[in-house]
Amino acid sequence: MPTDLSQYAKKNGVKYFMISFTDLFGGQRAKLVPAQAIGDMQKDGAGFAGFATWLDLTPAHPDMLAVPDPNSVIQLPWKPEVAWVAANCVMDDKSVAQAPRDTLNRLVAEAAQEGLRVKTGVEPEFFLISPDGTAISDPADTAAKPCYDQQAVMRRYDVIAEICDHMLALGWQPYQNDHEDANGQFEMNWAFDDVLATADKHSFFKFMVRSIAEKHGLRATFMPKPFPGLTGNGCHAHISVWDKAGKVNVFADPKMELGLSAKGRNFLGGIMKHASAFAAITNPTVNSYKRINAPRTISGATWAPNTVTWTGNNRTHMVRVPGPGRFELRLPDGAANPYLMQAVIIAAGLDGIRSKADPGKRYDIDMYQLGHTVKGAPKLPLNLLDALRDFDKDKSLKAALGEEFSSAYLKLKHQEWNSYASHFTQWERDHTLDI
Ligand code: ADP
Ligand code: MG
Ligand code: MG
Ligand code: MG
Ligand code: MG
Repeated sequence: MPTDLSQYAKKNGVKYFMISFTDLFGGQRAKLVPAQAIGDMQKDGAGFAGFATWLDLTPAHPDMLAVPDPNSVIQLPWKPEVAWVAANCVMDDKSVAQAPRDTLNRLVAEAAQEGLRVKTGVEPEFFLISPDGTAISDPADTAAKPCYDQQAVMRRYDVIAEICDHMLALGWQPYQNDHEDANGQFEMNWAFDDVLATADKHSFFKFMVRSIAEKHGLRATFMPKPFPGLTGNGCHAHISVWDKAGKVNVFADPKMELGLSAKGRNFLGGIMKHASAFAAITNPTVNSYKRINAPRTISGATWAPNTVTWTGNNRTHMVRVPGPGRFELRLPDGAANPYLMQAVIIAAGLDGIRSKADPGKRYDIDMYQLGHTVKGAPKLPLNLLDALRDFDKDKSLKAALGEEFSSAYLKLKHQEWNSYASHFTQWERDHTLDI
């Protein structure tokens, strides 16, 4: 039985529900619905003018209804009279095919048809910055190698501990928090889960981190490369695939290379095959391409991949196999849509399993130093336009994600690129005024 939200409100003292959905650009959209109105909304959904969000709908489309998924409900730990609930999108009694959570639901169902359950953990790095967004917020955070900086993480203890306390209370099983490799940058980790649960948590985590930062007079950003010269915000995904019951990790096989089963290798093969195309989704903004393909940062390494290669426990490649039965995809960044990044992982991986894709040669070298010695490893796209073109060329990936989704995404993202490209920059003036 799904949770009855009306009863949930009574039991937990909830006054308002935040019915929330995520659009194609990762924007989180919501209506605040008083508890006494949630009964009908749970059945029928909350109405939105779809055109007012990034979903490739027109002003003439009928109302889009955001129907809350009661399994996702979370009482805001910092404002318990409000409960957040993720919604699926419905129009004319049909799921809105291009809506990100709906897209992920379809892929989860496809994996289930093959008896598979994909489980992932994400590592969404973020910076705590000044409210005007121009600088990191801690003037003393200046070390050249600031990773794990004990003093700097304690100066932000009030923010980090508050967020971690909330994750503990929500039962997410958080297990570590640290200062990351850039000045002003942090990472907080919690336990992996089924992809839909991870996507909802990821989505909520961004909302929570921003909210708690604001409460402390700061601002949090997940932007892939907010400060040139500093390591960017990655959002690595650790991936494993389980049987239908979620009990047996079908990626694990102690007899195979690095403990990765034949299915795991095939899934990885699909990831390798489609990576340049799905970068348009895992690395979805103009700024994303300043994180990958970046020159070396002040700390000494970007920690971001440039090429489609894989390895064992070595962080200089796009894919790392840190231990048996799972692998880490290091490509996604902080701008990745929590739902779409999981959707492309499944789409690419299932294609890999079906086509028995081989991940190719494993390179156990320092890719940052010796990348030039690897012949034939595909370069990741150099900018968003190249990524969109790679995605557009990948017919099987587009089909796996759904034609409606793929054409809507490409259309809106091309518009975004065109808007960026028509923006007149200081660089042009500096470099070409006198030519
Ligand atoms: P690192 O920084 O070394 O890449 P983290 O500890 O920051 O790793 O994050 C690891 C993530 O991987 C966590 O979310 C963790 O729960 C998740 N994880 C661990 N084992 C698995 C697994 N078998 N399948 C999917 N995710 C996993
Ligand atoms: Mg109105
Ligand atoms: Mg980590
Ligand atoms: Mg990290
Ligand atoms: Mg990682």
